[in-house]
Amino acid sequence: MTLTGKMLIGQQSLSGHRDAIRAINPATDTPLEPAYAGGDGEQVEQACALAWDAFDTYRETALADRARFLETIADNIEALGDELVERASAETGLPSARIQGERGRTCGQLRAFARTVRLGEWLDVRVDTAQPQRQPLPRADLRQRHIALGPVAVFGASNFPLAFSVAGGDTASALAAGCPVVVKAHSAHPGTSELVGRAIAQAVKQCDLPEGVFSLLYGSGNEVGIALVTDPRIKAVGFTGSRSGGVALCQAAQARPEPIPVYAEMSSINPVYLFPAALEARAQALAEGFVASLTQGAGQFCTNPGLVIALQGAALERFITVASDLLPGCAAQTMLTPGIFSAYETGVSTLAKHAKVAAKGLAASGPNQGQAHLFVTQAQAFLNNEHLQAEVFGATSLVVECRDAEQMRLVSEHLEGQLTATLHVDEHDLPQARALLPVLERKAGRLLVNGWPTGVEVCDAMVHGGPFPATSDARSTSVGTAAILRFLRPVCYQDFPDALLPHALQHSNPLLLRRLLDGQREA
Ligand code: NAP
Repeated sequence: MTLTGKMLIGQQSLSGHRDAIRAINPATDTPLEPAYAGGDGEQVEQACALAWDAFDTYRETALADRARFLETIADNIEALGDELVERASAETGLPSARIQGERGRTCGQLRAFARTVRLGEWLDVRVDTAQPQRQPLPRADLRQRHIALGPVAVFGASNFPLAFSVAGGDTASALAAGCPVVVKAHSAHPGTSELVGRAIAQAVKQCDLPEGVFSLLYGSGNEVGIALVTDPRIKAVGFTGSRSGGVALCQAAQARPEPIPVYAEMSSINPVYLFPAALEARAQALAEGFVASLTQGAGQFCTNPGLVIALQGAALERFITVASDLLPGCAAQTMLTPGIFSAYETGVSTLAKHAKVAAKGLAASGPNQGQAHLFVTQAQAFLNNEHLQAEVFGATSLVVECRDAEQMRLVSEHLEGQLTATLHVDEHDLPQARALLPVLERKAGRLLVNGWPTGVEVCDAMVHGGPFPATSDARSTSVGTAAILRFLRPVCYQDFPDALLPHALQHSNPLLLRRLLDGQREA
């Protein structure tokens, strides 16, 4: 497919009117063709108007038809073949194998949402039948289902050019819920975005859906993004990226005459706890696992283990020594964009001013290559110094040495909200781990035992979320099928004649849903 540099507004390909962006191949620091001219307010308005026009039709599509649409998107993405892998790899510096894996995850995710749509559990149908004889007052017939919120604005992530971008988790969950989607492409991978955007637009046509179900806009410099979030027809936002970007979008959404929810996934340092018995028994294996998790994908995962917390002593020294011996063998890796590389360098040099450098990876041998770093500090210094608590996006981690369990608890209480918290424990550590659990449950969206936080399974039980600043709304997840719930709201129908009720709520239960009927779950 020839890349055109054009936006997709419904089924139309249009050139933007604002300054053009070109992707940069971060491995060579060279720009890639074509240029993508940014959209303006009028084009945002056009996309939102189409999305609004599509909304009432799209949200009432039969479950099987909507599921088929999601599956068709997945089929179309797979049909793009090597072209997609090559372009995504050139635009991000990520190896082809990683992009292929991510493509599998993206398509698997779309198909998982198709299964979820077909099951219909998300409609959460509740029926309280009328009780006309009830004393002292009769009860009306009350029926509840969930409907889609409205058109959703999606901001793709730089670090997952497929799985969290144009057809990624936010788009898939919003489409599954019945919401049209307008994507603001990430400026770091516009060509990948165009390829995937065309695959979605083609699926819209194949499935005979209203064209406004999907649009794709370009634009850097925040104009398009802010115009999108403040358009009155947009009813929710999905975002993955920087803390400053997420907070700016939340503020813009809250300042609207009609405020809307923003589901922003932003910043997390993902504490890893090494409890004494586990550390004593397997410091070497823990250090090996830690270095592998830390350096995977140049550390550019939102769940990268940026903080290690343990009691000081000989076992922790062994862990630090082994990790420090391994790190110099780890090659510097190309980071996603020159901007992300430069932010990494700044973050590392700030840490170096406030903590001891324990080890460094191999020095860079090409442009935009991040060198891995391991720092060590004392718990008291960590508690007193906010520079030590900030996320450094990349392969850098800080070991915090605690005097005792109480200081470990204090450090934990001091942490901001996190996507994950990891506990390495043996049998003897369980009482100490149990004592810390209430703190960690308050801090993080996912708690893991004897594993590593990188690698997020897309499944029904996953929670990829957590209190601020991990996300802007801890009540939901952005990964896994429960992400559909972010884009729904309940509506109750009182005393409706059957013929006027939506199918999901009709007396005969034509969709065969497992309803909550008069307080009992149907089989
Ligand atoms: P970003 O700068 O926040 O950009 C994400 C998207 O939001 C882009 O499309 C960007 O537009 C847009 N945007 C950012 N600020 C905006 C604003 N104030 N108004 C309107 N739109 C705005 O994130 P990034 O470029 O992917 O990475 C930068 C940093 O974010 C990294 O160094 C890292 O610290 C963090 N990050 C975190 C995660 C995570 O999973 N937690 C993932 C990736 C990055 P443009 O396309 O014009 O830039």
